[in-house]
Amino acid sequence: MNGMTRQNRTMTVTILGSGTCVPSLERSSCSLLVETGRSKILLDCGPGTMRRLLEAGATVHEITHLFFSHFHPDHTGEMASFLFANRYVTEPGRKFPLVMAGGRGFVLFYGAFKKAYGTWIELPDNMLETEEFSTTGPDTKIYDDFSISTMPVSHNPESVAFRITAGTKSIVYSGDTDESNNLVALARNADMVIYESSMPDGLKVDGHLTPSLAGKMAKMANAGELVLTHFYPPCDKVDIKQQCRSEYGGPIRIAKDLMKIEL
Ligand SMILES: [Zn+2]
Ligand SMILES: [Zn+2]
Repeated sequence: MNGMTRQNRTMTVTILGSGTCVPSLERSSCSLLVETGRSKILLDCGPGTMRRLLEAGATVHEITHLFFSHFHPDHTGEMASFLFANRYVTEPGRKFPLVMAGGRGFVLFYGAFKKAYGTWIELPDNMLETEEFSTTGPDTKIYDDFSISTMPVSHNPESVAFRITAGTKSIVYSGDTDESNNLVALARNADMVIYESSMPDGLKVDGHLTPSLAGKMAKMANAGELVLTHFYPPCDKVDIKQQCRSEYGGPIRIAKDLMKIEL
């Protein structure tokens, strides 16, 4: 790999969905688009993702990788529709295999959808590759122009958080999680972390973070910048940034759908 090329490469993150399972015109269900030099990576694919993807200027055929943080419907609900859309032949169509992966059990999870939908969600000509991440310890997969590292986090048995590194930059996406030492370890010195912040301080629910806990996780990891996302409606009624500021001193952004961040 040419050192200069890697150093000059940047990453672009687009928030496709900053919401949850709750229907909202402003906040679509969970999904992020990460663009590196040659890859377009989707992290989660909740309901509404394909529409937001179009609004962000990308097509389903351009997606190279689709990684799921866990199997809850607000993160996977559009998987079957996404695959079905990929079969629909329009020029230029899909030119390379889609790599689709999740935590342990993902192949079984996809298999259950195949039982229900049959060939409707099978991509022709070996255009789909499914893989799994460890849910008992750290894991890393290396692709064309980026690597992805995972750690199990505290939400579901299959839950993992992601660290994507391209060139000299690293970003971390928590998926859904409660407080997690694994998340802190995975995010150590990352340029930017994107953490769930489901409910405001004082309304914490099990298996999820609040703004101040997300801030605490980011501070412990010495993360360069924090983006809060995955907001249930009560979050939009309070000053999320202020709550997070009590723990984290670095730059804080409150995710909005179609917010684009260059690294
Ligand atoms: Zn969720
Ligand atoms: Zn969840």
